[in-house]
Amino acid sequence: MINIDQLKSGNRRALAKAITLVESKLDHHREQAQDILNTLLPETGNSIRIGITGIPGVGKSTFIEAFGLLLISLGKKVAVLAVDPSSPLRGGSILGDKTRMEMLSREDNAFIRPSPSEGALGGVAQKTRETMLLCEAAGYDVILVETVGVGQSEYEVAAMVDFFLVLMLPNAGDELQGIKRGIMELADALVINKADGESINLAQQTQAHYKNAFKLLSSDSFWQPKVKTCSAMENRAINDVWDMICEYQTLAIEKGAFDGKRARQNKDWMKKLIHEMLEMKLNQHPDVKNSLPKLQQAVLDHEVTPYNAAKKIIDLL
Ligand code: GDP
Repeated sequence: MINIDQLKSGNRRALAKAITLVESKLDHHREQAQDILNTLLPETGNSIRIGITGIPGVGKSTFIEAFGLLLISLGKKVAVLAVDPSSPLRGGSILGDKTRMEMLSREDNAFIRPSPSEGALGGVAQKTRETMLLCEAAGYDVILVETVGVGQSEYEVAAMVDFFLVLMLPNAGDELQGIKRGIMELADALVINKADGESINLAQQTQAHYKNAFKLLSSDSFWQPKVKTCSAMENRAINDVWDMICEYQTLAIEKGAFDGKRARQNKDWMKKLIHEMLEMKLNQHPDVKNSLPKLQQAVLDHEVTPYNAAKKIIDLL
């Protein structure tokens, strides 16, 4: 049994046990997890949720270590969660397999959780969202959600955080560095890491390049995405990144946009789950299982239109 009071008082064992339930594939664990989450819901939400993405090698773990240690020195409790689209189950995880953030992981006020493996309903993102809520109930006031810049994971992470930060390399020549244009639209800030040694100039050029690129993207939002440089390795300008996020938060709260964004995210997420649940129900329905192959064949044989076939399936529900 999970001791809710212990979890609320920040007991890491209780928190880890609750997360294990959230991540479990067993139905009765998931139900238990939902009960716990429902009980804890009033205690959640009191954090700033920050998404961090970037291609492998950009310095995500180095940055998160420096950033996390800074936050702890400011009296914060920091949780680091990961959304790894290449789950260990599918062979080869990008975020999980090296020893990462060694110094941060030794801190009492840091909690680091590797990516959950692939999940059924809602996938990895669902588990990470729920883990985030548990961490908030346990008193973590900054939640960092890390992901790699591949596939859909950036979109999933951007949809669960207050502020989305994209780490980049000082490489102005390389147009958008293989980073999709969509990412520019998700980003609240680009931070060009490795602005040190011989790369300082290049980092500044890259900064100018992206500042221009953002000017071309029209936005009527209260927040214009910022472009910063830092060196995670030399621990330089990391505090600027935090100051920027605090500025964003203050402004967003002032404009009523902070809670508005979270409300929108929750609504969208619920909608997504409804779709997934419906699909699951459909796939598991015995009559559907029975009729689907026949109807598919009928469509292929031009005996029935795809529309009518689809309608017949839906009517079975
Ligand atoms: P990740 O794959 O995005 O998590 O990247 P890592 O944090 O593992 O860093 C990849 C490599 O870049 C490592 O060799 C780091 O030491 C190096 N690195 C990270 N941050 C910086 C930085 O600010 N400056 C320099 N010069 N190297 C860095």
